Amino acid sequence: MRTDALFKEKTVFSFEIFPPRRTAPVETIYHTLERLKGQRPDFISVTLGAGGTGNNLSTADIAQKIQEEQFLPSVAHLPAVNFSKNEVITILDELKQKKVENILALRGDILPDKEPKKDFVYANDLITFIHEQGKFNIIGACYPETHSDAASSVEDIQNLKRKVDAGTNQLITQLFFDNHYFYTFKEKCEIAGIDIPIQAGIMPVVNKKQIERMVKMSNVTLPTKFLKMMERYEHNPEAIRDAGIAYAINQIVDLVAQGADGIHLYTMNNPYVAQKIREATRSLFEA
Ligand code: FAD
Repeated sequence: MRTDALFKEKTVFSFEIFPPRRTAPVETIYHTLERLKGQRPDFISVTLGAGGTGNNLSTADIAQKIQEEQFLPSVAHLPAVNFSKNEVITILDELKQKKVENILALRGDILPDKEPKKDFVYANDLITFIHEQGKFNIIGACYPETHSDAASSVEDIQNLKRKVDAGTNQLITQLFFDNHYFYTFKEKCEIAGIDIPIQAGIMPVVNKKQIERMVKMSNVTLPTKFLKMMERYEHNPEAIRDAGIAYAINQIVDLVAQGADGIHLYTMNNPYVAQKIREATRSLFEA
């Protein structure tokens, strides 16, 4: 099932998971999925590392299994910067064969030790290519606090419009911890004529290391109340986990009440946290 059709019916709630790290057996993700089974999100997306090696190559298999065993639509992420056109064609053929029809089409991060291939320089190049095939529902990434490579927020929105015009049907945002950025971003999108559904990406923080890594990798502001929470509970794993869950729930309640098209929860493969958040907010998505 195409995930873009869901937005016509409801406020959408989805999970994001990642294939196990290189050294872990791929089966570990199936245990995680089993524990997430009762939560019935509207879809589950599966990441693919821009390096494209090891268990990363199991993205299509995991996406297929979600559809066949949980009867939920799945989304396969596809960062193309390190793939040639022929490699992308092979991946698209595999997804078609596995009946995975939703793709989050990405440029991917430029890795310091890897020279990017030249076939897909920006996500809009990949989106144009996939769109020409006419077989997939295409999803794009967007950045309420501006992508870290962009010269300005104005240019970033212009580039986002290019992606939408190339054939994107829905968008998912980078994580953010201050909803104000999301609301301002939505206004800018409206002005730019971007009128497809935008899901807000929410990441529950469960430890300080995780957030430090995230902030290093992306352009994300940590509000004072969030920093205070981290400082107060950083040495108490249970308290920081519970505070992170409560913070994410508060963000979601506000976003849904203000009319967001949907929420995309970065589960970090943590079924306990995903379940707590889903249970606390489920009725908001049914209202
Ligand atoms: P683009 O849309 O190409 O944008 C990248 C930069 O180039 C931006 O600064 C933009 O303003 C600029 N730009 C875009 N188009 C043009 C143009 N035509 N001309 C000039 N400048 C342009 N990474 C992974 O490796 N695997 C994943 O599974 C993954 N999942 C993600 C899921 C979500 C929801 C999000 C938000 C990000 C995800 N990422 C993932 C990270 C993503 O790959 C990086 O943020 C990457 O740096 C940018 O990808 P993009 O598709 O947004 O790039």
